[in-house]
This record gives sequence, C-alpha cells and structure tokens, in this order.
Amino acid sequence: MALYFPTSLNDALDILRTPDCSIVSGGTDYFPALKRGQGNTVVLSLTKVPELHGLTTAQNGVRFGAGLTWSQMIKADLPPAFNALKLAGKEVGSIQIQNTATLAGNLCNASPAADGVPALLALDSEVELQSAARGTRQITLKDFLKGVRQTDRKADEILTSIFVPHPPKDMRSVFSKLGSRSYLVISICMTAVNIVLDNEGQVCDLRVAVGACSPVAQRLTSLEEEAIGQHWRDIKVREDHLAQLSPIDDVRASAAYRWAAVQEQIQRSVSEVVG
Ligand SMILES: Cc1cc2nc3c(=O)[nH]c(=O)nc-3n(C[C@H](O)[C@H](O)[C@H](O)COP(=O)(O)OP(=O)(O)OC[C@H]3O[C@@H](n4cnc5c(N)ncnc54)[C@H](O)[C@@H]3O)c2cc1C
Repeated sequence: MALYFPTSLNDALDILRTPDCSIVSGGTDYFPALKRGQGNTVVLSLTKVPELHGLTTAQNGVRFGAGLTWSQMIKADLPPAFNALKLAGKEVGSIQIQNTATLAGNLCNASPAADGVPALLALDSEVELQSAARGTRQITLKDFLKGVRQTDRKADEILTSIFVPHPPKDMRSVFSKLGSRSYLVISICMTAVNIVLDNEGQVCDLRVAVGACSPVAQRLTSLEEEAIGQHWRDIKVREDHLAQLSPIDDVRASAAYRWAAVQEQIQRSVSEVVG
C-alpha cells in the first residue's frame, strides 16, 4: 500500500490525480471497508493538511473544516441550533472513534445510517468541494447525497468544508437515535428536530430530518410546512407526513417497526425540543 501524507491542500489535490487513489480522513469507515476488499491501495491521508483543520465563524455562517473530528465539534462553542448535531456526534461509535472520525468522512461515506446527516440537513448545510482541474464548488448537502454510498463527489475532488448558514438565534434543536442497545450501535431510526417558536408557542420555523428510514436521510417538508403558525402542542405526526420514507427490513428491525418507531420518535422529539 502507498500512503501519502501531504502537508498542503494543493499537494493533496495533486496526489489525488494518481489513478485509483482513495482519500482517508479518520479512516474509521475506510479501513474496515478495506479489510472487506473495498477501497484502493493508494491512500491519500488528509490528516496533515492544515487548510482542512478547525472551525471558523464568518458573517454568514459557520464553516467546519473537513478535518474537524466529532470530538472537536462537540467541544466547540456553538449556539443551541447545533445541539442536535452535538448529540448526534456523541452517538458516533465510542469516544475513541469520535476523537479520530470526521464529520466530512461521515458525509462522504454516505451510509443511510450516518448519524451526522439528519442534523446537518436540518441546519440547511452545504458542502464545499475542490479539485485541481476545476477549482471550488458548493452544493447543498441534500444534493450532495445521492443514494446508498453514493455522493455527487467526483474522483478528483476533496470535500474541503461543511458550511452551515447562521440559523435563527432562537432556534433550538434535538437529536434522537433508536438502536438495539444504548451505545456503539447502528441506528434503527433517528430524528433531528430544529424549531423556532414565537412568544405564544406558535411555530415560526420547523425542520425535521429522519435518517436510516430511506437510502438518504430525508427532511419531512409536508410536516414542516403544515406546522408553521400552529401551536407546537398541535403538531401531530401522521403517516402521510412520512410519505417520502422507504424503510427496509434488515437485521436491526423490520420496515413495519421502523414506520411505527420513527413516527413516535418524531412526536417525542418535538415535545423534547420545546421542553
Ligand atoms: C467501531 C465503529 C463504530 C462506528 N459507529 C458509528 C455510529 O454510531 N454512527 C455513525 O454515523 N458512524 C459510525 N461509524 C462510522 C464512522 O466512524 C463515521 O462515519 C465517521 O464519521 C467517518 O469519518 P472518518 O473521518 O473516519 O472517515 P474515513 O473512514 O476517513 O472516510 C470515509 C469515506 O469518506 C471519504 N472521505 C473522507 N474524507 C473525505 C474528504 N475530505 N473528501 C472526500 N472524501 C472523503 C473516504 O474516501 C471514505 O470513502 C463507526 C465506525 C466504527 C469503526
């Protein structure tokens, strides 16, 4: 195996021109997959690329560098709208995994059960991609994720950052994950809820994103739109709100169980985020 550790983004982009070259950030998805015969033996590690480190707050939003680990994000000083993302981060494997694994890797791996996706969808996140040949482009996370293990990333592109436009100041959020045990478990279903209420408890903004119930995590737009102007106590999650979900039977749960569980999970998350 050839393993490269470039120390600048330009060098990393140059190395990525090598045929059959794989990118590795924390390696917590990549190396287990390599053992199963997936992946390439030319490996480009991004861990020493300083341009990808850290988190910056600009006038229009917050930018997470692609090298940012879950632990670094969890410890960062972020407003309550990011609580769902922090709660999701605390669910990613163990503390050892969170110390190594990155948010960017979670997105690029594109698992339907990636814990970071619902909270980042509820924050209207975008990703930035860079290639040596074509420069930089931005794309919404919704459009970036194409299917199971499929993204819009081209072979010569590095995901350089995740951008979150500033959420409303009074937005609060919560994340809930259902698994067959409390820790180190792949989600059966998960929900991120972000909400803004007026002084009377009426909904000004609602964002609900559900993961592990479709090939790509989904925002429940009909529920979100219907809730605007309602008192939060009047939000009732119905089956038709879940129309774009397509849960499957697998070793973790049946589709029927997922349907029932996620409906209840969303309802409880709405109460929890307000409470
Ligand atoms: C024991 C264990 C438990 C886990 N538990 C969970 C869990 O509970 N929930 C969960 O969601 N995940 C879990 N995971 C999966 C994994 O830890 C997360 O998905 C993590 O966020 C991946 O980040 P990484 O930096 O390690 O990614 P890597 O393994 O480095 O990369 C993942 C994929 O993304 C690509 N990639 C990485 N960075 C970039 C980039 N900047 N640009 C372009 N492509 C890139 C790689 O080529 C690879 O295909 C677990 C993994 C293990 C080993």
